[in-house]
Amino acid sequence: ECKRAGGNQLRIHAAGMSRSSLEAFALELDLRAALEREEFRLHYQPIVGASSCHARGAEALLRWQHPEHGLLEPDRFVPIADRTGLIVDIGGWVLAQACLQGARWRKEGVEGFEMSVNVSAVQFARPGLLAQVECALAQSGFPPSALILEITESSLMSDTGHAEQCLRALKTLGVRIAIDDFGTGYSSLAYLRRLPIDVIKIDRELIGEVDRDNDAEAIVRAALAMAHSLRLKVVAEGVETAAQEILLQASCCDSLQGFRYGRPAVPAAFRFGSLTPDR
Ligand code: C2E
Ligand code: MG
Ligand code: MG
Ligand code: MG
Repeated sequence: ECKRAGGNQLRIHAAGMSRSSLEAFALELDLRAALEREEFRLHYQPIVGASSCHARGAEALLRWQHPEHGLLEPDRFVPIADRTGLIVDIGGWVLAQACLQGARWRKEGVEGFEMSVNVSAVQFARPGLLAQVECALAQSGFPPSALILEITESSLMSDTGHAEQCLRALKTLGVRIAIDDFGTGYSSLAYLRRLPIDVIKIDRELIGEVDRDNDAEAIVRAALAMAHSLRLKVVAEGVETAAQEILLQASCCDSLQGFRYGRPAVPAAFRFGSLTPDR
């Protein structure tokens, strides 16, 4: 009887797997057409100065308005786009759109407005990125120094020699580089000294614990001290509570990002000025 139950389980499991890989395959086919059908959207989440809590910039976050499944978040389709290489063209679109929006906001009088754009490991490893960034800047008139490319640690770690070359090439354009999700990877801190990095973004898992867990607080304080002594700026991701805000302000964090100041939203819903809820 035991054996039979085991056998059934296996069959159910196999059926489930094939269904989900079928779904992924269907999504992949849709993804190939999505750019042409103009189904991608960018939502923008404010990044505020830590002491003023005024928006000083935004992170562009990709969404897919799928005709059947509705608005999809990147976790659902960016891994497929990475695996298939579709992320290269999608990423080019993201860069162009984000720079256009950033230029619009600067024209509307938001002085010094900065735009952060995510670059996946696959995009980063391809030679076309430099030209895409150059093109997005030229077509929008967005100033290079206001564009921040967010790259994860793991993108840099797979081939550090190549990574260094890529970063130096990007830096010649005048853009800035941020390390995204800092503190989650198996990071060798040595790269921070060697690579031309401008900003680190401390991962939201760490920030989520910072006001409840002494160890998390110690790590965040150490990361801030280290970053500042290397003349890097620090953004805290995933700030949700007043307690986290107060602690990060006291630790001299430079910028804050999180639901506390605004969720990612369409450009028309973006708010400027002071974004901290009353405390
Ligand atoms: P990320 O770059 O670390 O982006 C921050 C994510 O944290 C966003 O999720 C954002 O909605 C979420 N977040 C921000 N504040 C809070 C908070 O206070 N609490 C919580 N719980 N979450 C918060 P989202 O938009 O789902 O994006 C997930 C990831 O997808 C991004 O992580 C990034 O790695 C990737 N991604 C997004 N847009 C793009 C893109 O244009 N290109 C590429 N290659 N990847 C992208
Ligand atoms: Mg999300
Ligand atoms: Mg990011
Ligand atoms: Mg992040």
